Amino acid sequence: YKAKATHTGHHVFGVGDDGHGDARLRTLAELRFAMADDQFVLHYQPKVALPGGEVTGVEALVRWAHPTRGLLLPEQFLSLVEEAGLMSELTRIVLEKALDQAKLWAAQGHAWTVAVNLSASSLIDVGLPERIGDMLAERGLPAEALLLEVTEEFLMTDRERARDILTRLRENGTRIAVDDFGTGYSSLSYLRDLPIDELKLDRSFVGPMSGDARAAALVASTVGLAHSLGLRMVAEGVEDAAAFDELARVGCDQAQGFLLSRPVPAAELDLWLAERPRAVAGLSARDLAVSN
Ligand code: C2E
Ligand code: MG
Ligand code: MG
Ligand code: MG
Repeated sequence: YKAKATHTGHHVFGVGDDGHGDARLRTLAELRFAMADDQFVLHYQPKVALPGGEVTGVEALVRWAHPTRGLLLPEQFLSLVEEAGLMSELTRIVLEKALDQAKLWAAQGHAWTVAVNLSASSLIDVGLPERIGDMLAERGLPAEALLLEVTEEFLMTDRERARDILTRLRENGTRIAVDDFGTGYSSLSYLRDLPIDELKLDRSFVGPMSGDARAAALVASTVGLAHSLGLRMVAEGVEDAAAFDELARVGCDQAQGFLLSRPVPAAELDLWLAERPRAVAGLSARDLAVSN
């Protein structure tokens, strides 16, 4: 067993561990206790329309509010959750919290979608579509209030199965996005036949865009491709105003990234919205960003 110190001073469990040893067992016990003790919290990151900047939705991102190690990021605990066989349970917790919050926002008149990330292991849970339908119904939420983000990798591993699972999820009326798009080499003909609504262009394509004509051309053609398949394109990892403007120029539909807001607790997102100048076409990205 080895613990690596990160820049935040936390220890990372999972990557590189041998899976044996007392520390490991303690962490597993901690994880089970954390679920019972409600130590998982969601932060939310907005997505905005291009070019106007209106908020179209928020993505829920899980954190573990660890009693002694502080706020842990997904990369510090998700692999452990997987290995412990607790991913379906974590998914249930995240969905419940995200939909509770969606209901609060709906009551405030926000007609936006809340996106939840689903790992491959929770997607193969055959009870998931029905459970999601029940969770929406319990809260009186329309299915369109929820967007499920699945990875391109999941789509590529077992294509027939992935198609079946997505079809069943979409029968609820729930929207589906392909996360980290561009990293998994999925073919166009395959994507065309999948019941999906949105592609989220991986940030490795978005970062280099500003000031690099070839990177920008690649994004432009990918956006055109998404549109030709009837899919919406969302750029993730938008960190600077130049990338925001360039994405708007090439017709990308929505943007998400630190330029607009980092993932924050719901109460902070409400403050961000209140402080933000009203999104109007013609305002520059710089005007729409609130320092965070
Ligand atoms: P993702 O779904 O692709 O989420 C985007 C990640 O990029 C988030 O990291 C977010 O904080 C970060 N990010 C957003 N904008 C920017 C930017 O402008 N620049 C940079 N450098 N990064 C940005 P986070 O919250 O650490 O989440 C990492 C990954 O963990 C997520 O990637 C997702 O795959 C997974 N994850 C998060 N929450 C959940 C969950 O509830 N369930 C599951 N199964 N996976 C989750
Ligand atoms: Mg995501
Ligand atoms: Mg992503
Ligand atoms: Mg990503």
